[in-house]
Amino acid sequence: MTFDSKLLSELRAVVGAEGMVEGRASLKVYECDGYTLAKAAPDLVLLPQTTAQASEVIKLLAARRIPFVPRGAGTGVSGGCLPGDAHVMVGTSRMRAIRNLDLANRIAEVEAGVVNLEVTRAVEGRGFYYAPDPSSQSACTIGGNVAENSGGPHTLKYGVTVNHLLALEVVLPSGEVVWLDRCGEAPGFDLVGVFTGSEGTLGLVTAAKVRLMKKCEAVTTLLAVFPGVPEASRAVSAIIAAGIVPAALEMMDALVISAVEAAYRFGFPSDAGAVLIIELDGLAAGLDALAERVGQACIGEGASEIRRAADEAERALLWKSRKRAFGAMGRLTPNYCTQDGVVPRSRLPEIVAVITEVSARYGLRIANLMHAGDGNIHPLILYDESKPGEAERVVAAGDEILRACLDLGGSITGEHGIGVEKLGLMGAAFGTETLAAMADLRAAFNPLGLCNPNKVVPTDRSCVEVVRPRPRGGG
Ligand SMILES: Cc1cc2nc3c(=O)[nH]c(=O)nc-3n(C[C@H](O)[C@H](O)[C@H](O)COP(=O)(O)OP(=O)(O)OC[C@H]3O[C@@H](n4cnc5c(N)ncnc54)[C@H](O)[C@@H]3O)c2cc1C
Repeated sequence: MTFDSKLLSELRAVVGAEGMVEGRASLKVYECDGYTLAKAAPDLVLLPQTTAQASEVIKLLAARRIPFVPRGAGTGVSGGCLPGDAHVMVGTSRMRAIRNLDLANRIAEVEAGVVNLEVTRAVEGRGFYYAPDPSSQSACTIGGNVAENSGGPHTLKYGVTVNHLLALEVVLPSGEVVWLDRCGEAPGFDLVGVFTGSEGTLGLVTAAKVRLMKKCEAVTTLLAVFPGVPEASRAVSAIIAAGIVPAALEMMDALVISAVEAAYRFGFPSDAGAVLIIELDGLAAGLDALAERVGQACIGEGASEIRRAADEAERALLWKSRKRAFGAMGRLTPNYCTQDGVVPRSRLPEIVAVITEVSARYGLRIANLMHAGDGNIHPLILYDESKPGEAERVVAAGDEILRACLDLGGSITGEHGIGVEKLGLMGAAFGTETLAAMADLRAAFNPLGLCNPNKVVPTDRSCVEVVRPRPRGGG
């Protein structure tokens, strides 16, 4: 799309030359996120530095009916910040101020472009932290976390992003700035909840008030080694069935272990078929006994070894191995696609059997990484994009796995969102009335479809038109 020079100079007047990215080479940086099977560069990137600037540029775009897509750090793994039908990208990478730390009330007010881990870094010296901890936390932004309702290894006990939000500052697609407030159990609709997980389709989040947590008195991290994924999966259910809710309960299979061991040298046993990383936290008193019970539950399901991180350094290395596992996959393959689905945790062994079968039938290696306690699977499908037809097989294999998640009573995404990747599966996941309700909700905030158009709810409206038109205003 070409923009008229008057608009470009008006936009430049708002964000400055440093806030505008133009030209093919510079725009190529923005052509994809972590879902590299789809690529398309925007025609213009705007990087406002303040909420007022964000509001001004969105007003200028809205006046000309030019759609835009929000972007944080571009670590999404479903293509959510791909331009699609929007030609302009509005990024938050220059909105990185921590506006206020109110430790007495345990609230941080941060701008949307603040990197997740920076929130914890700002308060950890005082014994606080920000709980949602996506494995990408050293790069992803708070705005992106809100848009995706991101989770992380500690979601099992502490919940996802929406459980830690008190208020959002938002620029609506019209350019109007509003605060959506939940502080003090504000009455009325929970608009923070509505915005969270809406994948940038309702407006641009410019700041958030987030809840801070006090660090637990004690924490201990166990590594349980299993002969295979089925045994480890059964142990996950056994731990929860014993009435224990670990802070984190993560699984890696043999393929992932081989990659992270090569990268980080933690000392995982070379013959392990799968490992569970189990973190327990709380009061120091009783934690040893809890660890003992967890160990026994694992041994009861076939664990050959239970190791407890000896000190903070070993614990940190274990978590580094887990949280950087995606990056380590580069040691095994030129390309991989991270899938993201959910099943009830008791059905993990069944979905693992499906993944094994799909892997064999498609001739594609699939590594398994899981937020196992949540039943959230991440099959990593390894491929080589230079081999003709391989990328298409990856898409088809991923599609089969996600449909199997639905058949098992789960969902097509646990935390990575719909983006462009899973739009075609929304009709399988939701009924027509639900999709129509989602479309209506989006239209209430984004009536002209100017903000991240054609994402989340399919635009092929054949599946949602069934319940329209319908009477309005009592008519
Ligand atoms: C190695 C790796 C590990 C990961 N681990 C996890 C994990 O453990 N848990 C998890 O949940 N996810 C994980 N992810 C996925 C990803 O990091 C999260 O979805 C993250 O929240 C995206 O943040 P971002 O700033 O990169 O957003 P982007 O990728 O830039 O955008 C994601 C979506 O949010 C929208 N958006 C971004 N900023 C805003 C804003 N300010 N206002 C409105 N909409 C906005 C975009 O339009 C897009 O639809 C991982 C990704 C990688 C690459």
